[in-house]
Amino acid sequence: MQLKRLIGINGGTFDPIHFGHLRPALEVLNALHLDEMRFVPAYQPVHRDTPQVSAEQRCEMIELAIKNQPKFKLDRIEIEMGGPSYMVQTLEKLKQQESDAMLVLMMGTDAFAKFDTWRDWQRILKLANLVVTHRPGEPVPSEGEIGRIFHHRWVPNLTQEAGQIVDLPITQLDLSATALRSYLTHGDPVDYLMPESVARYIKEHKLYR
Ligand code: ATP
Repeated sequence: MQLKRLIGINGGTFDPIHFGHLRPALEVLNALHLDEMRFVPAYQPVHRDTPQVSAEQRCEMIELAIKNQPKFKLDRIEIEMGGPSYMVQTLEKLKQQESDAMLVLMMGTDAFAKFDTWRDWQRILKLANLVVTHRPGEPVPSEGEIGRIFHHRWVPNLTQEAGQIVDLPITQLDLSATALRSYLTHGDPVDYLMPESVARYIKEHKLYR
């Protein structure tokens, strides 16, 4: 299995990208020895409000944020597909494009808690493994359908192509794009919460005002 290329998938709205997206991605990359980590901004997220800034601007902010990390890549696949962004479609397409690779989809415990509401989640588990990263105030689900999925599929290390779930107690950063948008709207500083280059871009383009 380890001969395959390992590609991490970090999906999200990235409205805007912040250190709570970046540091976990680096820790997942290193812990699971991934060959690369793809940042996949949703074009039209299905489980939440429409992003405040355009897909192109969210991409530009990601590009600035990941510029110095060679294994981090921006993947515009959901933006090119257009319409509502369903992870199952994204993974199907990536699997066609990268037939020699094993996909590892990362998500925080908050996202995983709702994973059983995602379209065709069973199919997602046929296309990829999951890494669930711990997020402040969001325990790893232990009850209900999601608790059952977790206990049934949890492994200490990935040994198969797909369908396994690992969890990773990464450095806890109590940050969210919602909080950052609120700071920006109120003109509060966002220093040390997101890359300087992204903060500068937001200022130059007068975003989130
Ligand atoms: P919003 O506040 O707008 O909902 P967000 O900051 O939660 O946004 P998204 O772009 O929706 O970020 O993030 C998608 C993914 O990033 C999810 O899997 C989420 O769990 C993860 N994530 C976001 N912030 C953190 C954080 N501080 N620590 C760990 N994971 C995070």
